[in-house]
Amino acid sequence: MLSLLSDPDEETLRNVAEALTESGQAVSIYDAEDNLRYANETYRGMFLVGYEGPYTFADILRYGAAHGLGVRIDDGDVEALIARTLPRRRSSRRKSFETDLLDGRWFWIEHTVLPNGWILTVGTDISALKHNEKSLRQAHESALLASRTDLLTGLPNRRYILELLDEALAAGEAPGAGLCASIIDIDQFKVVNDTYGHDAGDAVLRHFAQVFRESLRPGDHLGRIGGEEFLLLQMDFRLDDAARLLNGIRAEFPPATLPDQATRRPIAFSAGMTAALPHDDRSSILSRADRALYAAKAEGRNCTRIGLGMERTATDRAHAPAKTAGRSS
Ligand code: GH3
Ligand code: MG
Ligand code: MG
Repeated sequence: MLSLLSDPDEETLRNVAEALTESGQAVSIYDAEDNLRYANETYRGMFLVGYEGPYTFADILRYGAAHGLGVRIDDGDVEALIARTLPRRRSSRRKSFETDLLDGRWFWIEHTVLPNGWILTVGTDISALKHNEKSLRQAHESALLASRTDLLTGLPNRRYILELLDEALAAGEAPGAGLCASIIDIDQFKVVNDTYGHDAGDAVLRHFAQVFRESLRPGDHLGRIGGEEFLLLQMDFRLDDAARLLNGIRAEFPPATLPDQATRRPIAFSAGMTAALPHDDRSSILSRADRALYAAKAEGRNCTRIGLGMERTATDRAHAPAKTAGRSS
């Protein structure tokens, strides 16, 4: 009985092959010279439709590439794929890998090299798994995007823009790698709400966000950190250039059309801007920008004020040693 099982006859072998085909698996056997000696129906459907030889591994790949069959080749260069693959086909006794076909199916391939150099491959269709994986990944990506986005304006929300600030501070250790951070606050915004209603206020916020989004350089970020308060991050920029760009946006800022479609409301904003200093963290840079914003509001609004690192508030001055106290801004 045992010898029968370990030394199958022709009929058993035929049944094994048929069973593998019935199971949907793709089976191939190549000899030591890489001639295809056996391919079941699934394998033939993957690589050999309409093909009449020669049945070497390389020629089969070439035929597939020329006729839209078989494996997807990322750079489309079948000769490069053959040159890469042939020397490695027998480099290990067993390997498994996934591969995607031009028809959109994915297969998990078990590749076994026999002691005489023949190769058996068994491929299992894993398309359903891959498609699940893809929709999970897409769901994850859109959940992540939603968790980072302010619903009203579509801008990065408070949490995300502060994360971007942390990242920019961490990346900006090199001297001269200038990060400029500004807190921007719309002037007299409450008047819009009080005069035209909350929806009009919302329309102003959306308009503000959209105009900024279109005015920023790629790689710069504006996020909403509070009601009508925003954080602007300008990367690799000198402070005076950053201020010039911001003031240019202010000067050109188009009025917002309110939901009644008739009222056009000019927008003014104040900004407190500062450049990142060595050893800055989220809180130190934001409090400098916030103090500068406070100064801009105090000095009449609709302007940008710059917070330099060595300025001191009145309280700081009271606690600082006499020699280093003083303002530089
Ligand atoms: P200032 O020039 O000093 O900044 O004055 P302001 O009126 O802009 O500032 P204030 O802080 O007095 O008022 C801000 C208002 O923004 C109060 C709040 O009700 C409103 N607000 C906050 N979030 C939203 C929002 O999502 N939509 C609308 N429509 N209003 C909001
Ligand atoms: Mg305001
Ligand atoms: Mg405010």
